[in-house]
Amino acid sequence: MIHNFSAGPAILPKEVLQKASEACIDFNNSGLSLLEVSHRGKNVIAVFDKASTLVKKLLKLNDDYAVIFVQGGASTQFAMVPHNFLGKKAAYLNTGVWASRAVKEAKHYGETSVVASSEDKNFSYIPKGFVIPTDADYFHYTSNNTIYGTQLREVPSTGVPLICDMSSDIFSYEFDASKFDLIYAGVQKNMGPAGATMVIIKKSMLERIQRQMPTMLNYKIHVDGESMYNTPPVFAVYVSMLTLEWLDNFGGVEAIEKRNAAKAKLFYDELDRNSQFKGTVEVVDRSWMNANFIMEDPAKEAQFNELLKQAQISGLAGHRSVGGFRASMYNALGLESVQALVEVMQSFEKSQG
Ligand SMILES: *Cc1c(COP(=O)(O)O)cnc(C)c1O
Repeated sequence: MIHNFSAGPAILPKEVLQKASEACIDFNNSGLSLLEVSHRGKNVIAVFDKASTLVKKLLKLNDDYAVIFVQGGASTQFAMVPHNFLGKKAAYLNTGVWASRAVKEAKHYGETSVVASSEDKNFSYIPKGFVIPTDADYFHYTSNNTIYGTQLREVPSTGVPLICDMSSDIFSYEFDASKFDLIYAGVQKNMGPAGATMVIIKKSMLERIQRQMPTMLNYKIHVDGESMYNTPPVFAVYVSMLTLEWLDNFGGVEAIEKRNAAKAKLFYDELDRNSQFKGTVEVVDRSWMNANFIMEDPAKEAQFNELLKQAQISGLAGHRSVGGFRASMYNALGLESVQALVEVMQSFEKSQG
């Protein structure tokens, strides 16, 4: 068994991959592949309905919210959010590359107030005690910084609409989703393959859209069209639906949170104990999803990589912008994979005498 610690696209449950591959050959015993049928067929519409229903069930959201699946990745959401909602001024928390890219897009549309940034220390912490201007059209932040391995699990309180990029930690721990006005996530980190972006939007937000805009950038069009204004990424949504079903059967977010917390504890306890490795971010801000670490002696990376290979551990290279190592421990990764990694870290330490 290969232990897949890839940061994204990332690990999916084996049973999801099995069902997804079956649907590629014969979808719902129709004799046709899911890849060769109309998105407007009733079986495909049922997939989209089920996916949205499961999202709301897992996050305990009521019908004040709509769930849509669009294309263009989280990166298109960086622009779509201000395009729809930035009238005069928006507030952003800058905690990494993705947050910075969101800020960059907002600047095309109006005043962009960065309430705090951790760029001074290479995004190795989450700024605390920032103040959100009460006249902002919304506040935007990134809940999990995939590249740096920091996470903000406590929902900030704001007097303004709250918008979050949850691409890499959606459905990984319990939080009060009803505090948010909009949540988006590229599905390829924690719920599906590349190709779809999930957007959860409070319907009352749609009334705030004022700017004239290209049709495809308008949230209202996609909500009214129930993700079928144009041809949606059917396969990516189908696989996401299967993952949501898997999570629901697992016991939902509450149950997966327990396992994610246990995985993180197992890994970080070893990181703190082991003399050969060290973390790169503030301990209180450590992510449960992406754990970044480096070696005390970087010259020994090749030796450690060899041990990882022998143990069938894959996807541990750090992001090209930060180097070192990054263990991504998304929902589908089992505790036994983290245990395998911990054992390799221990045997590396022993080999150093
Ligand atoms: C991966 C990632 C993105 C970029 O997603 P794309 O779908 O490639 O545009 C944005 N935000 C976060 C937090 C990510 O992890």
